[in-house]
Amino acid sequence: MNPVSVRVPAKVNLQLGVGPLRDDGYHDLVNVFHAVSLFDEVTAEPADELRITVEAAPGSRVAIGGVPTGDGNLAARAARLVAERLGAAPRVALRIRKAIPVAGGMAGGSADAAAALLACARLWDDPAAPALAPADLLNLGARLGSDVPFALLGGTAVGTGRGERLTAATVHGTFHWVFATADGGLSTPAVYAECDRIRAARGGGVPEPRESGALMAALAAGDAEALSAALTNDLQPAALALRPSLRGVLDAGRDLGALGALVSGSGPTCAFLAADAAGAAGLADALDRAGVAAQTLTAHGPVPGATVI
Ligand code: ATP
Repeated sequence: MNPVSVRVPAKVNLQLGVGPLRDDGYHDLVNVFHAVSLFDEVTAEPADELRITVEAAPGSRVAIGGVPTGDGNLAARAARLVAERLGAAPRVALRIRKAIPVAGGMAGGSADAAAALLACARLWDDPAAPALAPADLLNLGARLGSDVPFALLGGTAVGTGRGERLTAATVHGTFHWVFATADGGLSTPAVYAECDRIRAARGGGVPEPRESGALMAALAAGDAEALSAALTNDLQPAALALRPSLRGVLDAGRDLGALGALVSGSGPTCAFLAADAAGAAGLADALDRAGVAAQTLTAHGPVPGATVI
């Protein structure tokens, strides 16, 4: 059996609408996911037992220190799920090359899980009569985490429920982004808890989240300016409360000409929308010179989800 390599994109949330805290501890979400051209690569190769190695992708300065190499790695759990479904033993070595910031609000762990699902299915399933259809992989992904199915699908999609029920969105053209990473991640559960705390302290009800018509129209029209005006993230106040320095990063991006600026998902990565590729490159240079971010990265979206290469 030859090794199988899968490339998988990061995501930015164009809208992250967070409903009230449910009795089961989750929130209803309206989550507009957008896959961007920052990719992790997962290679699966037959081995005596399940092993994980993690490295920074060539040329990438991503800090991989906090990424578990045991069963805490979402990719390991993905490999075990596929093995269980196919009645196989999870005898696979997974090499993860990361370019997606770790604990950065860009769903890197979920991306690796999606890539591992696809790579292991390709490694173990019968190509003549596959037991795992794409829809089965999406279902397995939903068991691993609400961002995993989107990493399989890619493009731009609206997620509802806990984010795992996906509907593809109509998008015209390509959008150009700059991402400003931060040293040290933010824990997603801690950011949700802070969001609940802020809302409880403020009092009053929390409305059910609704898909933004203005956002969907901007995507369909390929209008970067209108999209910038429609970007929203209900987790942003909580991320800013936990990491006040992010306010300066967002302000710097706006001052330096970004059309739109927001915290990506649960942060601390900040996302800036530019008018075109040249605008994104110029903004990244200016942010580098301003020295407000650990690193700046340019990317475009939408791009396809997990793909065998
Ligand atoms: P999200 O946007 O989905 O909330 P995130 O981008 O903020 O996620 P991740 O990079 O997915 O964060 O990492 C969150 C935590 O998950 C890490 O601190 C790490 O302990 C754990 N983790 C498990 N597997 C992985 C993986 N393959 N890559 C990165 N982190 C992983």
